[in-house]
Amino acid sequence: MESAATDRAGAPVSVVISKCECFLPLDIPGDVKSWRPDRETDPGPTFRAFARHGEDPNQRRVVRVHDGFNEEGYEVNYYENITEPMRWWQIGKCVLGRAHSVVEVLCEYGTWRVAPPDYCG
Ligand SMILES: [Zn+2]
Repeated sequence: MESAATDRAGAPVSVVISKCECFLPLDIPGDVKSWRPDRETDPGPTFRAFARHGEDPNQRRVVRVHDGFNEEGYEVNYYENITEPMRWWQIGKCVLGRAHSVVEVLCEYGTWRVAPPDYCG
């Protein structure tokens, strides 16, 4: 996305906006592996849980089930288990329908966090 910004001399320049209106970043994380589910294939069942880049996985994450991904987290509604599982290509979409990168997350001692780069499942 671009906006009408100007440089110090007043000439128009394009500025890349790195945040979505949902407040999640639109860039890709530099320090851990990430996927764009709308463009890339599912890395497979050894990767069990994901969160959108920049999102606290305790608030919202998706966890793999046999036929897709269930949303979990304290910002997710209580009907998570009776709604249809999401498909891989849907898991990076935010409430505005924009595609975001996803990162692998894991649960340690009851707290979810982004998985370190060498972690797999
Ligand atoms: Zn967004």
